[in-house]
Amino acid sequence: MTSLTGKNSIAGQWSAQGDETFTSVDPRTKQPGDVQFHNATKAEIDHAVNEAAAAFQETRHYPASKLADFLDTAAEEIEKLREELVETADYETGLGSPRLPGELTRTTSQLKAFASLLREGSYVDAIIDTAMPDRQPAPRPDLRRMLIPIGPVAVFSASNFPFAFATAGGDTASAFAAGCPVIVKGHPGHPATTELFTVALNNAVKACDFPAGFFSMVQGNGVEVGQNLVQHPLLEAVGFTGSLRGGRALYDSAAQRPRPIPVYAEMGSVNPFVIMPGAIEARGDSLVDTLVGSATLGAGQFCTNPGLVLILESDATQDFIQRYTAAMQAKQPEVMLNASIESGLARAVEQTVGAGGVDLLTGGEVVDGGGFCYAHTVMQTNSTTFRSNPKLHEEHFGPVTLFITCPTLDDLRLTLNTLEGQLTGTIQAEADEVEAARPVAEALRERVGRLIWNGVPTGVEVVYSQQHGGPYPATTAPGTTSVGMTAIKRFMRPLAYQSIPSPLLPDALKDENPLGILRIVNNEYTREPIQS
Ligand code: NAP
Repeated sequence: MTSLTGKNSIAGQWSAQGDETFTSVDPRTKQPGDVQFHNATKAEIDHAVNEAAAAFQETRHYPASKLADFLDTAAEEIEKLREELVETADYETGLGSPRLPGELTRTTSQLKAFASLLREGSYVDAIIDTAMPDRQPAPRPDLRRMLIPIGPVAVFSASNFPFAFATAGGDTASAFAAGCPVIVKGHPGHPATTELFTVALNNAVKACDFPAGFFSMVQGNGVEVGQNLVQHPLLEAVGFTGSLRGGRALYDSAAQRPRPIPVYAEMGSVNPFVIMPGAIEARGDSLVDTLVGSATLGAGQFCTNPGLVLILESDATQDFIQRYTAAMQAKQPEVMLNASIESGLARAVEQTVGAGGVDLLTGGEVVDGGGFCYAHTVMQTNSTTFRSNPKLHEEHFGPVTLFITCPTLDDLRLTLNTLEGQLTGTIQAEADEVEAARPVAEALRERVGRLIWNGVPTGVEVVYSQQHGGPYPATTAPGTTSVGMTAIKRFMRPLAYQSIPSPLLPDALKDENPLGILRIVNNEYTREPIQS
């Protein structure tokens, strides 16, 4: 077993200069752990970012193949600690099996998928327009554009994904893949898991002979650590998954720097879930099971949790809601991640129920069983009430469903139009309802990052085509994704080379195309070299 230090890791060195400490808390018993974790001081953060900036002077020139080898090595080092990681994260989050072993596989697969992306090489988006010296009325210069790494990146781990959106999760993997050094701000909900990942990543840095500043980790259980990190003048970008409040605070903080930097924050979402009448009639029972499964998965602690269900008023609908409520009531609630998530959920439900015009059908209370736990909760209101009160549009982060009944499909569409940006939108419908559902799909399309037909929003594939993002407040950068291969583009910036001689061009832009990558040359996609 790895013995935990409780320290920060600054460019490969364990460091505990500060006096403020905190511990893990077992969510099943609410008991604190033994290890004291040290909040990083401003000096430690300064050291970490300075080392990252120094490392970047080397890693910005690394070929993609070297970065790919590093990502594969990181995945191997993480696998070596698999059992310890699963056991420790289970103790700190209560997420259990099969969730945690599955999430670990997803995390290492993600690192390896970025390695494959790098080896293929076309991710740099090379575009070449060759010179036209004889063009009239003026000659056209030679222009060649590609993506280059942005520089040191701060990654804020999420509480609800201790592996896949944490120390070596998607933000870190995509920043590393771009060639950017990373400073992770560990989530205070799982500091021991963070330290174990740090051991694995430090081993990978050493094994691949990368500069030590390529990876640092700072612990913290207060906003100061994150704020000091984001304010550091040598930082170039931020990746974040968490609350709207936290993401927005970091976004505002980064904007107020003398030199603002991008903050890619993935925040809350209520993920509207529309059920067409034909679907209730044809398969109401299986829909109850499907929706309960998605709404309660991981104690509902997913940013893709289907929190808002929009449905047409009818007797069949009322019967469906009753069956759903009974199924939610019958299912045993699971342990939640931590005290603040449990109390935040209790506050959010209280606010909704207290808003007037909302019926609490089941739940609405903390479950007293020794650990952090909240009852499976179902609420119902109508579209007029919902539209008139923006407070009802806010996220309940947990196993909570709010049904909105609408008198007509047009009213349902208008209700969707009042929603803010969302990560996902789902339509459940029968084949003969495709045309009827078209206006709903169009309304959803305008405000979501992923539109789903006859599926559930939980479960986010890590593939090239994935879009895990959406208009604000789902994210602060709707043109990007935090899951999938194109996530790498957040940590790169385009650079155009105008009339630059070949020896000064990167391989990706040379006439010979030595990397054999797919490029756009004079408006056409090709892997062919440019004939001079
Ligand atoms: P959080 O409160 O947003 O915290 C996430 C990270 O950001 C933590 O490391 C936190 O540091 C830091 N942070 C928060 N506010 C900050 C600020 N003003 N300045 C600097 N750093 C700041 O998220 P959480 O602890 O994971 O969960 C709280 C709520 O977030 C949940 O109840 C839920 O509503 C939402 N949530 C959303 C998602 C999602 O996927 N969209 C995921 C998880 C949670 P400290 O804790 O050290 O202050």
